[in-house]
Amino acid sequence: MENTLHIIGGGMAGSEAAWQAAQLGVKVIIHEMRPAVETFAHQTGNLAEMVCSNSFRSDDSEQNAVGLLHWEMRAAGGIIMASADKHRLPAGGALAVDREPFAQWVNDTLHAHPNVTVEYGEITALPEDGHWIIATGPLTSSALGAAIAQETGADALAFFDAIAPIVYAESINMDVAWMQSRYDKGETEEEQKAYLNCPMSKAQYEAFIDALLAADKTEFHEGETAGYFDGCLPIEVMAERGRETLRFGPMKPVGLTNTHKPDEKAYAVVQLRRDNALGTLLNIVGFQTKMKYGAQTEVLRMIPGLEEARFARLGGIHRNTFLNSPTLLDDQMRLKSRPNIRFAGQITGVEGYVESAAMGLLAGRLAAAEIQGRTIETAPQNSAMGALIHHITGGAEAKTFQPMNVNFGLFAPLEDSGIKGGRRGRKDRYKAYTDRAKGEFNQWLEAQS
Ligand SMILES: Cc1cc2nc3c(=O)[nH]c(=O)nc-3n(C[C@H](O)[C@H](O)[C@H](O)COP(=O)(O)OP(=O)(O)OC[C@H]3O[C@@H](n4cnc5c(N)ncnc54)[C@H](O)[C@@H]3O)c2cc1C
Repeated sequence: MENTLHIIGGGMAGSEAAWQAAQLGVKVIIHEMRPAVETFAHQTGNLAEMVCSNSFRSDDSEQNAVGLLHWEMRAAGGIIMASADKHRLPAGGALAVDREPFAQWVNDTLHAHPNVTVEYGEITALPEDGHWIIATGPLTSSALGAAIAQETGADALAFFDAIAPIVYAESINMDVAWMQSRYDKGETEEEQKAYLNCPMSKAQYEAFIDALLAADKTEFHEGETAGYFDGCLPIEVMAERGRETLRFGPMKPVGLTNTHKPDEKAYAVVQLRRDNALGTLLNIVGFQTKMKYGAQTEVLRMIPGLEEARFARLGGIHRNTFLNSPTLLDDQMRLKSRPNIRFAGQITGVEGYVESAAMGLLAGRLAAAEIQGRTIETAPQNSAMGALIHHITGGAEAKTFQPMNVNFGLFAPLEDSGIKGGRRGRKDRYKAYTDRAKGEFNQWLEAQS
C-alpha cells in the first residue's frame, strides 16, 4: 500500500489531521472540493473555515470540558489551537477568534508545509485502497454521502440530526421524578426501571404548551431542506398541531405509577432515558426541538423535577451528515468494513469546531502511526479527547445515537476521591477530572515520542 495519507475535506478536522501526520513525517494530500463546489454555509475557499460563530467556547482547562480539550490539543501541538491563539479576540473566559486571518493562517501554513499537497476537487466515491481519512463534515457533498450510505447501509448514515436535550442525571430532583418503564416492561429490574419519569398536572401541562408555542425558534438556513421526518417532529411543531398531540405522543401518561404519590394520576409524563453507558447523562425522549437555546432552557425547566436541570447539550435539528459510529467505527476510527478508511470530525458524530478538530488530531496521529508501522493506543478514556472517542465508538447508545459535544458527563466517575457530591463538590470534582485527564493525556503523548 502506498505510504501517502489522503484526507478528504480540509475543514477543521481535515486540516488538523493533515498537520499532525505531516509533522510526524508522513506525506499528505488534502482533497478539498471548495471553492469549485460550494456548501450553503462556507463562504471562502480557505481550509479550516469557521462556518458560523467565531467562538471556540470556554478556554478554562480546569473547570470546563471544552477548555480541557483546548489544553490537550495545545499539548499535542495542534494547528487549529495555534491559529486560534494567534488570532484571539477579547471575549472574557471564552476563546473567540478573528475568523478570516484564523483560517488564512491555517491555509497558508498547510500549503507551505513540505509534506502537504492540496488538491482541489470533489471526491465522489469511496477509495478502494491506500490510507484515507474522510473528514467531509456535516455538509458532505451528496455524491460522497450516497457512496458512504451504500457502504454503511442507509440507516447508519444520517443527513439530519434531531437532537433531544441531554441532562446531567445528578441535576434532576429525584423527590419528584421516579424510575419506571411503561407497564414495568422488561425481564430485569434494570430494564423495568430504564426510564426516568417527570409527572405533570393539567395546569402544569397547559402552561408548558403555552410556553412551547410562544418560545423563540430557529429557522432552517437557506439550502437546508426543511422537510421534517414524521418520526422526529420537533415538540413545538407537535404542539402546533394540537394542544393534546404531545399528551398522546411522547408525553403520554399511561403505564406509569408515581412512586412518590401512588394515588395521583399524572396528566402527562416526560420521560428521560440513559444516553451513555455510565448513566451520567439522560436524554429527554422525543423532545427534539428547534427552540432557541435561551428559550429552551427556560421551557424545559418548567418540567417538574427539572427545575434545576443542567444540560450537557440542548436540542436541535440541523442538516448534518453523520455516521452511526458506535456500530461502524473501531476505536482507531477505522471503518470496520474497510479498515483503510478512517473517519474524522463532525461526520463521526461529534459536534462543534473544537470537537471536530480534536477528532482530526486523533485520526491524523493514528493514521500516521499505522503508515509508519508503529502502533499507538487511542487517546486515554479519562482525557477529553479519549472521553469523546470512547463515547462515539462504544459508550453511546447506538440505537439513539446523536451528535455529542464534549462534557464531563462523558467522563468515568472518580474512584474514592472523597469529594462531596452535588453543587458544592462540583468545582473540586471538575478540577479532579481535569487533573486526571492532563496526567493521562501527557502520558499518552510521551508514549508516542
Ligand atoms: C451551518 C452550520 C453552522 C455551524 N455552526 C457552528 C458553530 O457556530 N460553532 C461550532 O462549534 N460548530 C458549528 N457547526 C458544527 C461544526 O462544528 C462545524 O461544521 C465544523 O466545521 C465541523 O468540522 P469538520 O472538519 O468536521 O467539517 P468542515 O469544517 O465542514 O469541513 C469539511 C470539509 O469537507 C469539504 N467536503 C465536503 N464534501 C467533500 C467532498 N466530497 N470532496 C472534497 N471535499 C469535501 C467541505 O468543503 C469542507 O471544507 C456548524 C455546522 C453547520 C453546518
